[in-house]
Amino acid sequence: MEKKDIKSLSLQELEAEIKELGDKAFRAKQIYQWLHQKLVTDFDQMSNISRELRDKLKEHYTLTALHAIDVKISQIDGTRKYLFRLADGNVIESVWMQYHHGNSVCISSQVGCRMGCRFCASTLDGLERNLTASEMLDQIYRIQVQTGERVSNIVIMGSGEPMDNYDNVVRFVRMISDPNGLNISQRNITISTCGIVPGIRKLTQENLQVTLALSLHAPNDEVRKTLMPVANSYKLADVLAACREYFDKTGRRLTFEYSLVSGVNDNLQEAKALVSLLKGMHGHVNLIPVNPIKERDYVQSSQRAIQEFKNYLEKNGINATVRREMGRDINGACGQLRKSYLEEESKGG
Ligand code: SAH
Repeated sequence: MEKKDIKSLSLQELEAEIKELGDKAFRAKQIYQWLHQKLVTDFDQMSNISRELRDKLKEHYTLTALHAIDVKISQIDGTRKYLFRLADGNVIESVWMQYHHGNSVCISSQVGCRMGCRFCASTLDGLERNLTASEMLDQIYRIQVQTGERVSNIVIMGSGEPMDNYDNVVRFVRMISDPNGLNISQRNITISTCGIVPGIRKLTQENLQVTLALSLHAPNDEVRKTLMPVANSYKLADVLAACREYFDKTGRRLTFEYSLVSGVNDNLQEAKALVSLLKGMHGHVNLIPVNPIKERDYVQSSQRAIQEFKNYLEKNGINATVRREMGRDINGACGQLRKSYLEEESKGG
């Protein structure tokens, strides 16, 4: 019999399972709270659950717990980058950031990624596999235990494309916002996508309150195709129409991410095109100075170009912010910590 992953089961599912094992449904709630509020990593820590039931649980379920193999702490702002090992040996990274409004964690949704965005380190070796809901949850759980501080915000902006692991990501959102779990408000959760239209449409129907962030990176299909292969599958007009529907249904303002790459998408011509593209959309633009990776020769826009781009947007009625660089001293672009770790490992380092 293959064991089930107990930490990926919703409370309702767990109740059905516990009844099946011949126990009372209220036990399921206790077990759920041990897993998702007290954040235990071992069935034997569930002290109000009988020995007999704990043994049954061990027989039927695995309990996912990530193992932190490295943490880098910024001397500048306290940002922490965690490298976690999964049960099958794969390695993922997550980032913990402190803001005045609370602590935010950036989680990975896949091991690797198959979207192929040209400037991104996470996709260089392709997709290894999807993460389970429990592996996404446990990134938050282990970080909350290690820092001893409550996590209040989550961005699904680490390695991976959330819409390419849709069911597990939605399951994760429901479980992390469950009052019997960490109860993190859906309004404090952001899902960032490269723009997979059917995924955005499906999410619109889920009745969730999460913020949708679109990785835009260009004001037209032509430039976008040079940076993001996914632009060959979905036209910007359709992507933006899906985003508009998301806003109409949920009332959640959109975020448009725009990584500025010198000479590629950062001149005033593009700023102008972006203004007409986004006119009337309810959202703001988050400008990200591209973080150069050694495998590609993209260059970050100058501070002056970044400011001019931002000013142009604002003068023309589009809200824009430049993403503050957190943990500059421990920085590497998305997926770079994992990549350099794997390279060292394969060298036997
Ligand atoms: N797959 C999701 C999450 C990716 S990471 C998505 O595409 O939205 C979050 C953001 O960081 C995305 O906007 C991504 O395009 C951007 N990004 C990735 N690597 C980057 C780099 N080296 N420099 C700047 N932005 C980068």
